[in-house]
Amino acid sequence: LVSREVKNENTVVRVGNVAFGDGSMPVIAGPCAVESEEQCLVIARAVKKAGAVMFRGGAFKPRTSPYSFQGMGKEGLEILAKVREETGLPVVTEVMDVENFDIVEEYADVVQIGTRNMQNFSLLKRAGKSGRPVMLKRGMSALLQEWLMAAEYIMEEGNEQVILCERGIRTFVRHSRNTLDLSVVPAAKKETHLPLVIDPSHAAGVRDQVIPLARASAAVGCDGMMIEVHHIPDEAVSDGAQSLYPDQFEKLMQKINQIHAIS
Ligand code: PEP
Ligand code: MN
Repeated sequence: LVSREVKNENTVVRVGNVAFGDGSMPVIAGPCAVESEEQCLVIARAVKKAGAVMFRGGAFKPRTSPYSFQGMGKEGLEILAKVREETGLPVVTEVMDVENFDIVEEYADVVQIGTRNMQNFSLLKRAGKSGRPVMLKRGMSALLQEWLMAAEYIMEEGNEQVILCERGIRTFVRHSRNTLDLSVVPAAKKETHLPLVIDPSHAAGVRDQVIPLARASAAVGCDGMMIEVHHIPDEAVSDGAQSLYPDQFEKLMQKINQIHAIS
């Protein structure tokens, strides 16, 4: 079902007025984690003003350490609903397990499956029964074929609204958190009709690399981007180091719009 051999026409995933896969360059932005209503609203207003068309924020956070902030859970989802109501921006948020799927899909416009869950097959099957579009992040050491087979699990259950998200893969380098695999974009486009967005923030891990990687992403021909932004990155409960200040995000939007316009 994922294959171009089965369907050559590009799949366009629509979320309200936002379209992934129609040649436009929608940008999703927001904090790593939902921390408070105030935090989300401040960031949402700023990113909307700069041109973001969707808001992101995790209510259930997959953290490496069990002692790190685990997310606000349902309260976080309620804050996301408030952000949508106030700003009109649809929201994407991560679902970590089958147990919380019902509640996440109730609040989210797009349900995100994170890198650590790309091969959580029961979660993929549950996502396949959802009426919500699914953003499927690439496993941090997954082959393109494994990633596409994960998407197949979702589609096979009946949900064909899948957006792929490249977020960097684990390599030997230490100068970035992950390595953004730009070449997977043309390779994936050849294999599949599904839209593909790039998350340069989790690939970079450090703020200084996000704008250059976003520019490269726009040039390589992705179907959108997801960017972490925080109004006070130093105080962020997670991923502050890679979160852009709102004024940097504005600059990023200008840069990628220029590149998208000429390519
Ligand atoms: C995220 O986008 O919040 C996230 C946890 O990303 P990843 O699954 O790519 O690490
Ligand atoms: Mn993050």
